[in-house]
Amino acid sequence: MNAKERAGLRRRMEEEITTLRETIAALETQVDPVAPDAAVGRLSRLDTMQSQAIAGASLTNSRRRLLRLELAVRRVDEADFGLCEDCGEPIPVARLLAMPESTLCVRCAQ
Ligand SMILES: [Zn+2]
Repeated sequence: MNAKERAGLRRRMEEEITTLRETIAALETQVDPVAPDAAVGRLSRLDTMQSQAIAGASLTNSRRRLLRLELAVRRVDEADFGLCEDCGEPIPVARLLAMPESTLCVRCAQ
């Protein structure tokens, strides 16, 4: 990976981190518990609980991805960044751009 690719990756990861933080903040407002005396019928409360469960699941995923990205962005300047943890081969830049938190090459990830 050359310096330009590294810089591009860093920028990409930083953008992704910003977006994820916004997503997480938005999701957090959706998973607030419904007040029992909320002026909604039983069915719409069930609906609300269902969408809260969905929001909760994406919240978990987003937090997990944010954590991995924050770790990756700290390591981007290290010599072994972008090398597969399993086989030591370079992870293709295209894969790193799509999933900057990748620590395995396509083959080892399967
Ligand atoms: Zn590998």
